[in-house]
Amino acid sequence: MTTAWSRPWCGELSRADLGRHVEVVGWVRRRRDLGGLIFADMRDRSGILQLVFEDDLVARGEELSSEDVIRVSGVVRERAEGQANPDLATGEIELRVEQIELLAEAETPPFVVEDRTTASEELRLTYRYLDLRRPEMMSSLVLRHRTTSEIRTFLDELGFLEVETPILTRSTPEGARDFLVPSRVHRGALYALPQSPQLFKQLLQVAGVGRYFQVARCFRDEDLRADRQPEFTQVDIEASFITEEDIFDLIERCFARVLPLGGIHPPERYPRMSYQEAMERFGSDRPDTRFGLELVELGWCCPGCGFRLLEEAEASGRVKGIVLPGGATLSRKQLDGLAEVVKPFGAAGVLWFKRTADGVASPAKKALGEQGVARFLEAAAASEGDLLLVVCGPQRVVLGALGALRLSLAREQHLIPEGRHDLLWVTEFPLLEWNEDDGRFYAMHHPFTAPLVEDLDRLESDPGSVCARAYDVVLDGVELGGGSIRISDPELQRRMLGALGIDEAQARERFGFLLEAFRYGVPPHGGLALGLDRLVAILAGRDSIRDVMAFPKTTSASCLLTGAPSVVDQSQLDELGLALKAGRGPQPEGSGTAGG
Ligand code: ASP
Repeated sequence: MTTAWSRPWCGELSRADLGRHVEVVGWVRRRRDLGGLIFADMRDRSGILQLVFEDDLVARGEELSSEDVIRVSGVVRERAEGQANPDLATGEIELRVEQIELLAEAETPPFVVEDRTTASEELRLTYRYLDLRRPEMMSSLVLRHRTTSEIRTFLDELGFLEVETPILTRSTPEGARDFLVPSRVHRGALYALPQSPQLFKQLLQVAGVGRYFQVARCFRDEDLRADRQPEFTQVDIEASFITEEDIFDLIERCFARVLPLGGIHPPERYPRMSYQEAMERFGSDRPDTRFGLELVELGWCCPGCGFRLLEEAEASGRVKGIVLPGGATLSRKQLDGLAEVVKPFGAAGVLWFKRTADGVASPAKKALGEQGVARFLEAAAASEGDLLLVVCGPQRVVLGALGALRLSLAREQHLIPEGRHDLLWVTEFPLLEWNEDDGRFYAMHHPFTAPLVEDLDRLESDPGSVCARAYDVVLDGVELGGGSIRISDPELQRRMLGALGIDEAQARERFGFLLEAFRYGVPPHGGLALGLDRLVAILAGRDSIRDVMAFPKTTSASCLLTGAPSVVDQSQLDELGLALKAGRGPQPEGSGTAGG
């Protein structure tokens, strides 16, 4: 018996099938009428096949419109002399149609279903099912599937078990805002959607699973930046009786199998860099090391330099710069534009120094004098023709601003070598982060991340200086994933919560079940989570994670296809015992067209 599963895909037929009688199904892409002869391209998810309607089938071919669904059968033959299309996988063959069945007629779509499209993203998201028919979108879906299944196979081979964890759960301390779901049965009580399966994967270690993974949907109700989604997918991993080295080895071996799917061939082992070094050299905890423009220290040039701005900044904060080789040719307008890059970080502006054949130049020349300007340029090892850009202020501001400036200059000046990819591990993150507004420390990763053993004795006396056993894996300046070795000693967990200002009652209330579990034999454990959307976007060479998600939301968290989030019936609210405060529901953009 032949079943649908043995039917060939349009894009798979080739010269090897010449003379074969086949049946194919798919969508009409376009039709060309040559009078007495009709050519039509047929599309399915694998590619495109040319159909020819001749003789008494011409009339049937004439009836076809774009996006009609058809089933055809006929014989595969070579295209006529000079008709081959080298851009198509099936470009040397065509199907001479003998039978055709129109399975569904299509109305004229709101945009042409082709890779080259002028349709706006709004329109594409509203009619996402048509957008996904476009070959480049379909190939992203295929790549996403390949990536996930390669990761699954790899982890399975190493004895990892895929375990599903609840979606309706309790708020987890991942640090973002939760999505909440009111309970009908327990009036007044709410579930939270998981920001990550963090606590469950740790509980699975207590349970003895030992090696866990999950392709897990995570939910964070954050203000969306351009490339964030309220729900996203992590490859979530946790294992027992391991150290950092085991995690590094695992991910390096995993990427050796996965990254080639996107044409990236990683080295066997990746360099490691401490958080501190990454910040000081690159102004970022996910440094893009594919190009230079490293930050240089200039604080030591400032005392007594004669320029009050720099003297004061050095005394209370930091003064650092970057040298743009050959940058002395930048115009006044370009230099002024740099201020816009650093402003979002709280920097007042960028102070520039130039060395040209005519001498040195800088707006600071009046205060510093010729010699003073030359001294800064020398300190930064700037040669003739180079430009030194200096930012001063609080450390956070200076490092962040120069990190952004570095990336912006590299993009503008095309300093990133084509085809180069750099992977590295960033390690030794600070355990805690001081929050000025709340006057307390927060966990930089989460409260279950273990401190470095050698820093343990400073957890109470100087908590800000303690480093964590946390790590991020970074590709070309993009954080692909991160995790940590966890605290598995109840006494240390108590001290950590103390440093966070979380008292016992609060701890019991929020994640008492985890602390309780740790009393019954907890193995040492750790893990990490990879951002699957970002990983696939990089492999697919796409800028936006929306392009590798089947049904993404807009940057304002609406689904243009379904119209979610939407107002619900009063009866549903009544059942849940809810009353909306403001008299009106959400007003998402778009209206959920297409029969939604
Ligand atoms: N749960 C963490 C996160 O979502 C990852 C980890 O620590 O494994 O960032």
